[in-house]
Amino acid sequence: MRKSLVAGNWKMNGNKVSVDALMDGLMSGLNSGAVPASESIDILVCPSTVYLSQVADKAAQSVINTGVQNISQFESGAYTGELSLAMLVDFGCCYAIVGHSERRSLFGETDAQVADKCEAALNAGVTPILCVGESLEQRDAGEALAVVTEQVLTVIERCGIAAFNTAVIAYEPVWAIGTGRTASPEQAQEVHAAIRAVLHDADAEVAAATRILYGGSVGAANAAELFAQRDIDGGLVGGASLKVDDFLAICSAAAAA
Ligand code: PEP
Repeated sequence: MRKSLVAGNWKMNGNKVSVDALMDGLMSGLNSGAVPASESIDILVCPSTVYLSQVADKAAQSVINTGVQNISQFESGAYTGELSLAMLVDFGCCYAIVGHSERRSLFGETDAQVADKCEAALNAGVTPILCVGESLEQRDAGEALAVVTEQVLTVIERCGIAAFNTAVIAYEPVWAIGTGRTASPEQAQEVHAAIRAVLHDADAEVAAATRILYGGSVGAANAAELFAQRDIDGGLVGGASLKVDDFLAICSAAAAA
């Protein structure tokens, strides 16, 4: 039985005041039972890193976990502008989103760098959330499963299948991120099952236990039917994670799945 995870990716949004308000809203919703059985799922928020400590201090009084949206693969040294995992852990980081499609497309992150980051996270005791997903062109060309398979295999080759005893995978079709266009539950399930089959080829037990999240315009209205799919173990949520009621409704859907 896999424990669902709902992760909010706040991206480059918020300020000191709004971040506090969002956390206060989530925590009072959770305290008042807005998410029945909230302890049966893992809930994670990934603010902009400058607010990590502020958010982690609040989250410490709740069931909410804190993570970051990007990490350096390097341990320390002359990497101007980078943040090491040790620094992030110091400030309350437990999870790290790795290889988000915006990092891949806007900042040129390659599969190899993403694999290095996964390895660095695991070495630091931080759970990587490995993002994979195809572009619209790749889907239209019938390449979705091949693209996603390659992205997962690169990490298995670099880190070993045992990495997925800890690491989480997020399938995020690029064409569904921030577009309001969600993959249908059947489309998502097909890719999730293919990802699990890739893991299964390496180790059946690990494959059965690995959490695979869906991301791409998840909202209060579509979360339940996505999370009802056999191989979908929660969601990576962008836009809707900035709205207290929507995020709590998505968490409820995961808890009920
Ligand atoms: C994301 O950024 O990971 C994401 C899934 O965004 P959205 O939910 O807004 O599509």
